[in-house]
Amino acid sequence: MKHNVDLNAIWRTVIAEHAQVPATLEAARDAACPTPSRFLQGVESGWEDRNDRDHVTACHFCQNSVSLYWRAVGECPNLRAVFRYLLLGSRFEDAEAMQLHLRRDGCPRCARRLQSTSLIRAADWVESGERTLDQIQSGLEKVIEIFVPRRERLIPVTADGYICDPYTVPLMLLEKNEHATLALREDEGGHLQIKASAVGSAFGNGHLEIFSTAVDDADSGVRRDAAEALGKLGEAQRSLDLAAGETALASVSAEEPVLLLIIPEL
Ligand SMILES: [Zn+2]
Ligand SMILES: [Zn+2]
Repeated sequence: MKHNVDLNAIWRTVIAEHAQVPATLEAARDAACPTPSRFLQGVESGWEDRNDRDHVTACHFCQNSVSLYWRAVGECPNLRAVFRYLLLGSRFEDAEAMQLHLRRDGCPRCARRLQSTSLIRAADWVESGERTLDQIQSGLEKVIEIFVPRRERLIPVTADGYICDPYTVPLMLLEKNEHATLALREDEGGHLQIKASAVGSAFGNGHLEIFSTAVDDADSGVRRDAAEALGKLGEAQRSLDLAAGETALASVSAEEPVLLLIIPEL
């Protein structure tokens, strides 16, 4: 996605944070740093130029610029990148940018994504050779993700073809692909009602992962009763089984950030 970003402002911030003395951007940036257009192209759509990729990985100035780019556009690295960070740690190409994103910028979404039991398990599989990285990455393309930073951010959307009663409670957020649908609406009591359905047979088995410390109620699948589903719930992350054709329902408080992932068996 193209963004209107003031790269000079980003670079001025990098310089200020590093307390570097040079008066001009040109002096602060290394001669090997990518040009502005190459930097924006690389950070937006992946680094095709191997030299730029290697440089940006090793350069503190560029790593900080990458993390400030994420902050400036209000976006997080994609889930593939987050998974690679989980798998590779400091060997991840943008590890330094990711650490700044998590620690300095305190991203609540990525902090939760890194706690996903499905992703952690998948990283273990890749490490032990049970799965290849390609297998996991193709599974990640099916993931549906909704992050609600706080309730004011919810905006009404139209929900074509979605079965709910549009006359009583407005549907607030809807994400879907050919594999699954994730819908949220806010009730009068300040709770987010979650409805997750695996619609495609290609989905197979998967999970609805809910990151919130205030899950009030959850029910997974037509073949499962609520008691069994609730019995499996942990503290801050709840994972409900979601098989093809099944629907999972849950309710969480809308007062705090909530991350929802529909994640197929990777
Ligand atoms: Zn650089
Ligand atoms: Zn993030």
